[in-house]
Order: sequence, then structure tokens, then C-alpha cells
Amino acid sequence: MDISYTRYRIYRECPEKYKYLFEDGRRIPLDGRASFGLSLHRVLETWLRGADCSLESLQDALRSRWLSVGYPDEASESRAYAKAERVLARFHGEESSRRTRLIGAEKEFAWPLGRHEVRGMIDRIDQLPDGAYELVDYKTGPSVPTPAQVADDLQLRFYALGAKRGLGIDAAVLTVDCVAAGKRVSVPYDPSGEEALTADIVAAADGIEAGEFSARTRYCPRCDFRAECPHSTAK
Ligand code: SF4
Repeated sequence: MDISYTRYRIYRECPEKYKYLFEDGRRIPLDGRASFGLSLHRVLETWLRGADCSLESLQDALRSRWLSVGYPDEASESRAYAKAERVLARFHGEESSRRTRLIGAEKEFAWPLGRHEVRGMIDRIDQLPDGAYELVDYKTGPSVPTPAQVADDLQLRFYALGAKRGLGIDAAVLTVDCVAAGKRVSVPYDPSGEEALTADIVAAADGIEAGEFSARTRYCPRCDFRAECPHSTAK
């Protein structure tokens, strides 16, 4: 089977939730916060892949890639749009002074793992002035992780493994770029956990393939199915 980071993460959190989403085809409607984050990712992808690095072209990308879904009313959406303009103006200023070379935005990777295929899309890969590679994940919420949290970030570690196996790129630095908060947190990448992560991805893919969808309740309080799921501990 093809296993992406999202499928892997959700299966690890709760196989029952995985079943709702990926076997039964249930959908979670976007709320304003998720819609805002998705819009910013779409805008940055379009702009970073384009040839025009002006602020005007970034604003054009915002107009063309903005998603209006998920907001309770027009006023909320207008506030979110104005915030996106402010966030992107600051991002543009920082980007202009960056000394890294962009290798890819929304860069896809795929690599065979036994009878499975591991796939993903990395928000951004940069090459630093000394030639080392940096993997960047854009976050659009208000919180800023600590360096220890970035070093332990499962998504970035999944992507570092994917970059190595699927693209032949050895990451030296992992960065969470909190674009809305205007902060970047970077740490050196430690590949020592790759073997354990690989084994865990195989275990998840095997479990999905075998139809093992028993419930895990640790994340019930933040699960979108908590009101209706018979195993929920957070009704
Ligand atoms: S409510 Fe709890 S047990 Fe049910 S799907 Fe969500 S996380 Fe799993």
C-alpha cells in the first residue's frame, strides 16, 4: 500500500479514526483555522515555484489561491484575509534577506519499503551557503515549538527519511517556520532514529493492510468523531 505521513500519523494515533477517514471515506469539514492554514500553504507553494519574487506577485498568489470555505461569516473571512496579507508581507521581507538556495517547494518523494511505498510532500527544501540541506515545515498556527520539540517532530523526521530514501538528499537541519507567528526554529537533524521509524512505518502499513482497526483512546478529546464514536472517552 501507499503510506503518506498523514495516514501514518492518524493510524498511530487511533486505527479506528484511520478507518473512519480512509476506509469509510468520512470527511472532516474545514474550519476557519484549517482553511487559513491551507490557503497559506497554497499561496507559498505557488509563489515559491514561480519566477517573480516581488511582493506584488505574492499578493497575486494570495488572491488566486485563497480559500473562502470554513469561515462562519464574511467578517471572519475578511479578518483572516487581512491577517494573511500582513503575514505574507513580513514573510516576503524575511525571504528577501535569506541566503539559502531554494531546492523545492511542496517537493514530492516516494520510496519503496518492502511491499509498501512511502510517499510525502515536503513544504520546502533549501540548500544552505555551506552546501548542507535544510528541510522546512510551515506552520500557520499561533504557537511556536521549542528546539527540543522540533528535533522530535515526527512529521519532519518522516520527511527527512523520505528525502534521504526518495530524493537522495541528506538533511542536516530541520526547521519549523511559524509564518503566522513570524518565528523560525531550526535544529540539527539527528538520523539515529531512522531505523526505528522505518520499522514503525512498516508496522503501520502492515496493520492497515491487515485491516487492524482497533480503537486507541489517548487522543479522543481532540478527535472530530468523539461525539459519535462508540469507543470515545470524550463524549
Ligand atoms: S473518538 Fe477516540 S477512539 Fe473514537 S476514533 Fe476518535 S480517537 Fe479513536
